[in-house]
Amino acid sequence: MSTELLDEFVQAIPMPALMVDQTERIIAANTDAKTLLGQNIVGRHFATILRQPQVLEAIEQSLQTKSTKKTRHLSNDGAQDTTFEVDCRYMNGVGAVSGGAVLASFQDITHLEHASQMRRDFVANVSHELRTPLTALMGFIETLRGPARDDPGARERFLQIMTDEANRMNRLVGDLLSLNRVESEERVRPIEQLELTGLLQSILNSVRPLAEDAGVALVLEAQDGPVSVTGDSDQLRQVFTNLVENGIKYGGSGGNVTVSVLSMERDTALRGPSVRVQVIDKGPGIDPIHLPRLTERFYRADSHRSRQLGGTGLGLAIVKHIVNRHRGRLRVESELGKGSVFTVILPR
Ligand code: ADP
Repeated sequence: MSTELLDEFVQAIPMPALMVDQTERIIAANTDAKTLLGQNIVGRHFATILRQPQVLEAIEQSLQTKSTKKTRHLSNDGAQDTTFEVDCRYMNGVGAVSGGAVLASFQDITHLEHASQMRRDFVANVSHELRTPLTALMGFIETLRGPARDDPGARERFLQIMTDEANRMNRLVGDLLSLNRVESEERVRPIEQLELTGLLQSILNSVRPLAEDAGVALVLEAQDGPVSVTGDSDQLRQVFTNLVENGIKYGGSGGNVTVSVLSMERDTALRGPSVRVQVIDKGPGIDPIHLPRLTERFYRADSHRSRQLGGTGLGLAIVKHIVNRHRGRLRVESELGKGSVFTVILPR
């Protein structure tokens, strides 16, 4: 194959690619490979360009054994790490000397690596979250079988703790299933036409017993007349229930949780007509350093308080996915000591 033809050939490969022949020099490289490894790489010995031992070894072995080798190449452009899968394939009859050459192509697999890291973190988090109540349950079963067997007072107390821990596991499994369902439907746009003020009123009615137990008053501020949006009523119920419950849980006794509804003709966030629903509490607020990560699964601003209140750490992740499905926005503003405002902006 002529040099021109080789250049045309590597140029047509839709990822960084280069060829190394039996003289161990790079005989061709496409624009993507030059961007990745340097502009003047053609003609150089491959070991002066590709310095990572596993890549050198793969190319050497492919040249020697005339077979396919795969390895990883890691690069960092100063801003971010990129992981490539390097595929070294031997081609007969190519190159300056008789024999052949290795075609090394670099496929960017950073997103796959990232997804698999996220999956591992998620499994580790779920196992940890389930194991904590499970360990408590197993401990109390042992105690009830042994030292507390004939102590009716202790038995009642322990059974109550066991019930709380079992409920915690149940809530966690429920939230995990919800998250799964919401994620799998995220690309399907909701089509139901619903009236938001009535939905919010009905949510406040159902969480009122919880609010009363916590000594919190619930207030709905809405304009007169119906406010209609296109949405999934079950999912929007879940969004506002989670936000109001958080306001009650974290807002603290003696306070108010206010839900306000405002229709806008031209919303700056959505560049069109919208409804903004705000859930406002005057509780301890959230330190600004936590705000960017608040909607990540299992992320808690105050872990101790969340666990004490039976939180799963999944509520806001569910909220975010549902709002995304509605092509809406979630905004969180909070100041320590002053409270929090969660704003859901939905297109109308
Ligand atoms: P959780 O089940 O822990 O409540 P969420 O996903 O609903 O999980 O919330 C994530 C974290 O955000 C909570 O653990 C809590 O630290 C913080 N948070 C949520 N809502 C509020 C609020 N209204 N006031 C203060 N902190 C809040």
